[in-house]
Amino acid sequence: MPCLFCRIIAKELPAKVLYEDDYVLAIADINPVAPVHILIMPKKHIARIDSPEAIDCTSALFSAVKQLVALHNLSDPGFRVVTNAGHAGGQSVDHLHLHLLGGRQLTWPPG
Ligand code: 5GP
Ligand code: ZN
Repeated sequence: MPCLFCRIIAKELPAKVLYEDDYVLAIADINPVAPVHILIMPKKHIARIDSPEAIDCTSALFSAVKQLVALHNLSDPGFRVVTNAGHAGGQSVDHLHLHLLGGRQLTWPPG
């Protein structure tokens, strides 16, 4: 059974697509924690950032970040990119994704 994000990538499940290319899909988070909350994921199933294949998609992911930051005018005042890994890291979907957060003042450190 493909994972939730693989099913969204395959268009079996709906999502608000904000960016797409051959390697990457970016969707609006269903439960946003900031005015801009975008999930940027490789189309290939890779579990998390420390998976062996994760390094292969870094430039595609970073390129999508750059384009989405420009599209949503986040460069100034700023934004955050975070990826959760594993139980203690707060990962709830085991398909690598970057959270792009912006549109409000973000606090540090995160909880
Ligand atoms: P994680 O907890 O793995 O770092 O992030 C998973 C994110 O996926 C959460 O922010 C959650 O709100 C979002 N999410 C979970 N299910 C869906 C869904 O079906 N559609 C969309 N667009 N986002 C989802
Ligand atoms: Zn997947």
